Amino acid sequence: MQSKIRDAALKLGNIDAQPVTGHNFDVWHNRWKTMSLGSYMASAYDPSKLSGWPLDEITIWVAIAPTPPIGEWPEGCGEIGGFYMCSRQREKRRVAWEKAAVELGYEIKSDVTLPERAAAIRAGLGVHGLNGLMIAPDYGSFVDITVLLVHAPPPPDARGPEHDLSPGCGNCGDCIKACPTGAISENGVDTQICLRSYMNWLENMPEEYYPKMGRRILGCDTCQHVCPKNAGLKREQPPADMIDCMKLEELLTKPDIDHISKYIKLYETSVKTQAVLAAANTGRKDLLPLIEALTGSEDKTLDRAVKWAVNQLK
Ligand code: SF4
Ligand code: SF4
Repeated sequence: MQSKIRDAALKLGNIDAQPVTGHNFDVWHNRWKTMSLGSYMASAYDPSKLSGWPLDEITIWVAIAPTPPIGEWPEGCGEIGGFYMCSRQREKRRVAWEKAAVELGYEIKSDVTLPERAAAIRAGLGVHGLNGLMIAPDYGSFVDITVLLVHAPPPPDARGPEHDLSPGCGNCGDCIKACPTGAISENGVDTQICLRSYMNWLENMPEEYYPKMGRRILGCDTCQHVCPKNAGLKREQPPADMIDCMKLEELLTKPDIDHISKYIKLYETSVKTQAVLAAANTGRKDLLPLIEALTGSEDKTLDRAVKWAVNQLK
C-alpha cells in the first residue's frame, strides 16, 4: 500500500524514493557532534522523539531529484549554485509530496529537520562523499533529498541502520585539494570554515576569507565541480531571466529581490554584502562609487565588507 507514496514521489519529478525505518541516526549524530558546529546541526536525529510515535509505527520515505549543476555565470554577475537555484521548485515538490501522502490517508509530520543525507544513505540512494554530500549513482552529488516522516509501520523492504555506514565515495582527495578554505580533510568537512556555512553567519567570517568568496552570492560548488562522480553531468546555463538581475551593479544598488525570489529567498542586506565582496574580488574599480555609497550602513557586516572592499580596490 505504501508503494503509492513512492508513485506520488516519482510523479512529482523525483528519480527514486525508498522507505527506511525510523531508528535513530546515530552514525550521523556521532559524526557531527565531533565537529565544531555539531551541537547546533545535530538537533534532530531521533525520529521517534521528533514525532512522538513508537519506532514500529514510523516509516521514513526518502526521495531524490536532480538539481543540475550550473555552468559559469557571465562575467560581471554574482553566482548562485545549482542547488539553490532549484530552491522554489524543491519546496513545491516537498509540499506536493506531503499533500499526496495525506490524500492517500497517511498521517505525516511536517516541518521536520531529520538528517536527509543520512536517511538517503540508509535508503541506499547513494554513498557518503568526503565532501559531506550524498553521491547518487547517476546524478552525483547534485541531488535534492526530501524526507517524509510517515505514521505507518515500515514496509518489509524498508532498510534499517545496518546500512548507515555506506561504503563511501572512494576518497580520491580531489575535493580536499580544491576546497578554497581547506575545510575538507580525510575526516570530512569542518563546517566552521566551509564558505557555505559562513554564508549563513557572514558576521563571523574573518576578513582573510573575503578573497576566497570570489563572486559567490549563495552556494559554493567547488568541491562538487571537481568531484569525479559528477564528471559526466551536463552543466546548465544560468537562467536567462536572472542574468540582468545578478549583475553586480544591480545587486549593489537595487537588488531585484522579487525576481530573485522566483528561484530563491535572499535578503537585500546579505545580497549587497556578498556583492561588495564579489566586486572587490573581481577588481571592479568602476563599481567603487556604488560600494562607497554603502559606507556607514547600520548593518555592521555590510559596513565591514564595504571598508574592506574600498581598501582593496583603492
Ligand atoms: S572529490 Fe573524491 S574524495 Fe571528494 S567526494 Fe568526490 S570522490 Fe569523494
Ligand atoms: S562548499 Fe566550498 S568551502 Fe565548503 S567544503 Fe566545499 S569547496 Fe570547501
